[in-house]
Amino acid sequence: MSTEVVATSAISAEQQPSPSAPAQEKVNLLGMSRPQMEKFFEDMGEKKFRAGQVMKWIHQFFVTDFAQMTNISGKLREKLEKLCVIEAPEVVHKNYSKDGTRKWVFRVGDGDGSLVETVLIPAEHRSGLRRTLCISSQVGCALDCSFCSTGKQGFQRDLTQAEIIGQLWMANYSYMEDVPVLERERSVTNVVMMGMGEPLLNYDAVLNSMRIMLDDFAYGMSKRRVTLSTSGVVPKIDQLVKDIDVALAISLHAPNDELRNELVPINKKYPLEQLIAACQRYIAKDGNESSRKHVTIEYVMLDGVNDHPEHAQQMIKLLKNLPSKINLIPFNPFPHAPYGRSSRNRIISFQKTLSDAGFVCTIRQTRGDDIDAACGQLVGQVADRTRRAEQWKKKIAQSNEIMRSQG
Ligand code: SF4
Repeated sequence: MSTEVVATSAISAEQQPSPSAPAQEKVNLLGMSRPQMEKFFEDMGEKKFRAGQVMKWIHQFFVTDFAQMTNISGKLREKLEKLCVIEAPEVVHKNYSKDGTRKWVFRVGDGDGSLVETVLIPAEHRSGLRRTLCISSQVGCALDCSFCSTGKQGFQRDLTQAEIIGQLWMANYSYMEDVPVLERERSVTNVVMMGMGEPLLNYDAVLNSMRIMLDDFAYGMSKRRVTLSTSGVVPKIDQLVKDIDVALAISLHAPNDELRNELVPINKKYPLEQLIAACQRYIAKDGNESSRKHVTIEYVMLDGVNDHPEHAQQMIKLLKNLPSKINLIPFNPFPHAPYGRSSRNRIISFQKTLSDAGFVCTIRQTRGDDIDAACGQLVGQVADRTRRAEQWKKKIAQSNEIMRSQG
């Protein structure tokens, strides 16, 4: 597959969100949820229905210039011009793969050089073309999962609501930049909060961003098409049930506590028993009406680490009382990664064991290999600061030796 690299300057100056320097003190409307924007308008002495009108211009017509908001009076537009901006994070790099995968690196914040990544993966589905956007929620991540490129960078800071929703705005806009304003449509069909960072550790900003995704005055996405993926921050899973109805995915990656403590260290704080119980509480009683009919279990396939037949058996036992769909993810190696990708045969046999036990179990297609589409890879081309790679290589070699000696 070849890669088409598109220069950032390809975005027309007219439509690229306003430059940040002169706008620092202005309020950025991009990240405001409807209640927040309604309050903002009321505080300005305006009618709150203006919020819905402005949100439509921003999130459905991808307009950043108040002059283009033709159903708003000239007087109000002038006022907004003085007080506000509509400003997405700056695109510093973008890659569009021939297979349709798109990837952006955004600079976020006030010139501190923080970068985050966003990946869009298209796929044919029986209901039509799906464009799924994987959105980041933090710069770096504190949780240090041992197979994760982002985890190797450490934690820098939480993203703001504007920086989170700005990723969705920019992905949609990338299909619409040459389309006349009134003919523009929303192109991204699905969102997974599964990029850089642990979304439940940036709870309020992520929650409000998801509210904007679901809002009919903004992206109007179905609650089944917005998925929050967590490594298992148990108290926040319980909070999420109360606050919003979206789909939940768990980055499981190991079927027993010993292995999960190593791969996903937050497991030491919230072990599997607690995590599975929280998932059971998340499943809605009126399952048919909700996005919470099942939980998606994400399981990255690491060669010789978590892909043995007994791991599949442990999964069956662990998940037997949890309505779930399992997604096996072939590991996408990054520089200094201590792991390799499980062989195709190993992944297929793992899938067969789970399918035979009655689980819906899919294997994620690897896409965008030519543009380092696994999250955190572009930004994460950094040295492994934790030196865990070496320790893990040794451990895997030892474990494989034991497996071999046991026949
Ligand atoms: S897998 Fe997710 S939670 Fe774990 S280190 Fe990476 S970004 Fe953080």
